[in-house]
Amino acid sequence: MAHFNLRGHCIGPIDGVLFDKDGTLSHSEPQLKILADARIEEAKRQFSAQDATSEAISELESLLVRTYGRIPGGVLPDGPLAVASRQHNILSTATVFAQMALGWPKALLMAEDVFDRVDAQWQSLHPNGHPVSMLPAAHTMLRSLKDAGVICAVISNDTTEGIHAFLKHHNLTDMFSAVWSADCFPCKPDPAAVHALCAQLNVSVDRCALIGDADTDLMMAKRAGIGAAIGYVAGWHRSPDLTAHDHLIHHWKDLNVVPPPGRP
Ligand SMILES: [Mg+2]
Repeated sequence: MAHFNLRGHCIGPIDGVLFDKDGTLSHSEPQLKILADARIEEAKRQFSAQDATSEAISELESLLVRTYGRIPGGVLPDGPLAVASRQHNILSTATVFAQMALGWPKALLMAEDVFDRVDAQWQSLHPNGHPVSMLPAAHTMLRSLKDAGVICAVISNDTTEGIHAFLKHHNLTDMFSAVWSADCFPCKPDPAAVHALCAQLNVSVDRCALIGDADTDLMMAKRAGIGAAIGYVAGWHRSPDLTAHDHLIHHWKDLNVVPPPGRP
């Protein structure tokens, strides 16, 4: 059986590893910044078409900046844009519209339209996709796990399509045995998502590690009875302030895979 070695500390045995994607494997922040700004601009455009005053438009912008966790130079690593699903971000945007005195039915429709229009703009700018880069040494870690016979899966609140596009772009498809996305039921952060994914992988939850950059991931993992909840904090301009981890890594090079006896 394989183990992890974290700065001389042995973690394991590990039969499987569940990886978060955004901010753990992928350097998502540059793209999320662009997405946040595009959604804010589109929301302002649609709101101004409702005969909103310049003061109201300014207030809307301020609320959305805080709601999305948009900060100078990046986004908050534990903000909804970084952590939550597209659907949850639509709901938080609709809530902002509702705070600006729009009724909920209209607020929800407008939020959905903002997201759809920004997605369409993105598609027209990047018809062949625009995958984000990987975080340093993540690929090496995945290769080591594969070589050690450890089963790997992605558990992310991105869509199934988005996860597969990322894996394909980075030639990672064969390194993962399964993907659990926002399209699956239940999705993160329900601990039942961990149970269902481990059942699919045919590995015991208590012999798995989950590696993620958000307390929601780590709390979910611990509630599910995971063997090791490992926080990763190097994926963002501002490091996530994690509290729910068993172990913490600041770079993928902090962690080494110790293969089972008899494996190279
Ligand atoms: Mg993440």
